[in-house]
Amino acid sequence: MEQRRMGKTTDQPASEAEPAEKKPFSRRKFMTVGALGAATLAAGCDCKDRCGGPASATAGSAGITERELKMVTTWPRDFPGLGDGAENVARYITEMSGGKMRVKLYAAGELVGAFDSFDAVSGGSADLYHGAEYYWTSRARAYAFFTSVPFGMTISEIMGWIEYGGGQQLWDELAAQYNIKPFGAGNTGHQMGGWFKREINSLEDLRGLKIRMPGIGGEVMRRTGATAVTLPGNELYQALQSGAIDATEWVGPWNDIAFGFYREAKYYYWPGFHEPGAMLSTGINLDKWNDFSLQEKAIVENACKAANHQMIAQYAHNNSRGLKTLQEEYGVELRQMPDDVMEALADNTKIVFEEIAAENDLSGRIYESYKEALLAGAEWNRISDEAYMAVRRRQLSL
Ligand code: CA
Repeated sequence: MEQRRMGKTTDQPASEAEPAEKKPFSRRKFMTVGALGAATLAAGCDCKDRCGGPASATAGSAGITERELKMVTTWPRDFPGLGDGAENVARYITEMSGGKMRVKLYAAGELVGAFDSFDAVSGGSADLYHGAEYYWTSRARAYAFFTSVPFGMTISEIMGWIEYGGGQQLWDELAAQYNIKPFGAGNTGHQMGGWFKREINSLEDLRGLKIRMPGIGGEVMRRTGATAVTLPGNELYQALQSGAIDATEWVGPWNDIAFGFYREAKYYYWPGFHEPGAMLSTGINLDKWNDFSLQEKAIVENACKAANHQMIAQYAHNNSRGLKTLQEEYGVELRQMPDDVMEALADNTKIVFEEIAAENDLSGRIYESYKEALLAGAEWNRISDEAYMAVRRRQLSL
């Protein structure tokens, strides 16, 4: 995502006919990644308070102090979905506190630039931000795990990891290094693979392809032969039109329609390997957070949870309608990314993960915890969501 990107699409279940060994991230292959062992894994979840319940609420007094909180965000004003998430966090805090905690929202560029939000909150010139943690990977690449990573978790999986699997604890530890207290505060769900001017029929077609894909996904694309670039959202259409890029990912049907990519690129590829469930976040200046009463902490935490809930519902509803519009009104052609491309992307993803895990002790523990949670859920998902979606589609002829 740049300052504006994300989304969801109707995802397809994995092929049941595919042998386990051929899956890009089979359990066996995934488990070979990284040299960190069970000892570090165990350290990822040893706190009942943080894994099971409210991540705060261990100190402070009751009551709400009259105060104004400055909130910055990585999104432009009035941006559908992502911007709504920021506005909802601000509004919920204000409303839940009966107007005592007045949150004043500054959209990207109004107080600080989009990507300066982190430093503003870290240093205290702003009190909280709404954004995406993988914007902060220049500080620590492991931040990517708290938004979305290639072949990573879906919405429910990352919620389970954050709230019950030790994810919040590790996130707290990482963010505390920058004087920030983080919470999940939105999720776009699965994003689309992107808009392509020409078809991708094999791995060879990816070589030299100029594609806009930021983050770890872009890094993986580069290692797989493409020329991946990072451009802000407002430059994408022109870049596609001029031929500066051959393809771009953005979000999903709902947000992508507004940018008009379908006019310049005919093929809309699925699935999005790079952002299978992008979680948004709120970060609060840690000094400010520690100064909050129990009641104030509960208000902020639950405002974030309410915004998370609201955004998930919003994208689920609007992406399904958006996809229908793209196909029926604009003649967009859906294409599935070939197996050999996905396999190469998965292989290179593992290499990048291994590099991140080796960077330092905390990065290693974050990766091991994430991987353990993902693998633990794989078998359950195989016989629940994956199997059910496939059966429903067949039986209802969807
Ligand atoms: Ca995206």
